[in-house]
Amino acid sequence: MTKRQDLIVIGGGPGGLVVASVAAQLGLRVTLIEKSDRLGGDCLHSGCVPSKTLINAARIAHTARQGAESGLLASMPGIVFDKAIDEVHRVIDQIQAVDDPERFRGYGCDVIFGAARFTGPHEISVGEQTLRGRRFVIATGSRPAIPPIPLLEQTGFETNETIFRRRDLPEQLAVIGGGPIGVELSQAFSRLGSQVTLIEAADRLLINEDEQTSKLIESALAGEGINIITAAQVGGVRREGDYRQVALADGRTVECNRILIATGRRPAVHGLGLEEAGVTFSKRGIEVDRRLRTSQKHIYAVGDVCGPYQFTHMAEYQAGIALANIVFRSPKKTDYRVVPRVVYTDPEVASVGMTLAQADAAGIKYDIAEFPLAEIDRAITAGHSKGRARLLIRKGRLLGASIVAPHAGELLHELALAMQVKATIKDISATVHAYPTYAQIHRRTVNKHYAHLLQSKS
Ligand code: FAD
Repeated sequence: MTKRQDLIVIGGGPGGLVVASVAAQLGLRVTLIEKSDRLGGDCLHSGCVPSKTLINAARIAHTARQGAESGLLASMPGIVFDKAIDEVHRVIDQIQAVDDPERFRGYGCDVIFGAARFTGPHEISVGEQTLRGRRFVIATGSRPAIPPIPLLEQTGFETNETIFRRRDLPEQLAVIGGGPIGVELSQAFSRLGSQVTLIEAADRLLINEDEQTSKLIESALAGEGINIITAAQVGGVRREGDYRQVALADGRTVECNRILIATGRRPAVHGLGLEEAGVTFSKRGIEVDRRLRTSQKHIYAVGDVCGPYQFTHMAEYQAGIALANIVFRSPKKTDYRVVPRVVYTDPEVASVGMTLAQADAAGIKYDIAEFPLAEIDRAITAGHSKGRARLLIRKGRLLGASIVAPHAGELLHELALAMQVKATIKDISATVHAYPTYAQIHRRTVNKHYAHLLQSKS
């Protein structure tokens, strides 16, 4: 018999889990369908959680190494890579407990494991079962985008879906792709003992950040011994026994024993039967309006599968918008004015709001206020000097901000809140910031800006 539900959620990652749990707790008849054999999605199993746990192990190794070099420790402790991988899986298991399917069933939500496929606009099949639903939310996430490099399949490569399962540390690692995932993992593997070469096609790393940020991160990574090659096209790869070679189009070659592909993500739209459901999509993902409705108004999409941002916090934010529309019938729309973005390198890169390039492209006039980390006492006491805060200011309010500093991801939220509530930079200046904290950089940046304005008026 065909089961009829109020809401069918496809995909048990951050976006789908928020929709399913809240809708079920509010009394809707909900079915959650997940293709793999566990809930949690990419974020928990092959994204945020494993990468940040490995980055933490790498930070500990780096700190210990610095201590040994400055004579504070008698000797550098050896790195046992498989213990770091054990820790990655211990942390996944710990967080997985929150995503236990029984918790969702306890809310009255049916949880089915299997690949879902639309067989019509109101009908879906999972294995032998057919389900009908009044509304649907597609939250199937994204997969690694694999570039068409000759002989890549035959040579063998890693992606975020495989690398956290390998228990042996690669002696030489070639990372192809210098976006957030590529730079984070390059630094982590380098700190854990791999010799890393990071290859990027654009002329700088972290192309979505401003140029100054790219330079700061390139200098930090190069300073730790990572070989960075920018403006480089990969012409092909080949394998000889345990060794692999990445050939660049300009004739240079990179020797390694493992290749990590980090060249972006593609929305997981294939095999979903979107054509049968009449849902419009392109290679950028499922097309949605500002209420996250697809071309079929009863079918919504949230998270990486529709973008435009591929972050866990955006999947969760969009889940809230979809819920408002589906459950409360409130025509709530997405607002991407204040989207925090963090790259978990050391120093971290955190930004919110408009970048310089976006403001320029929109023809918006702004002032720039900047302050170097090297003049912040807390950073001096901790031996950190690489970084800065940069604010884009228009009519006394923030248009955007970019911070390069240790804990920049934590520091960012004062500015995100200021933007959200439309506080002025005067409010930031008037707020007492504890001494000595990294957060003082915000007040110092604003005050320096005021001093500059006064000077230019006198
Ligand atoms: P996903 O988490 O991808 O979940 C989608 C789920 O749908 C999966 O479980 C999948 O199996 C399931 N599914 C797919 N097809 C079907 C089907 N046909 N039927 C049923 N189920 C299906 N973001 C951050 O905010 N911070 C970070 O630090 C961060 N680090 C990252 C590090 C790496 C290495 C990577 C790869 C990503 C990182 N991200 C980070 C991005 C983050 O993981 C994603 O933005 C987030 O997981 C998106 O959530 P989602 O719910 O849209 O999709």
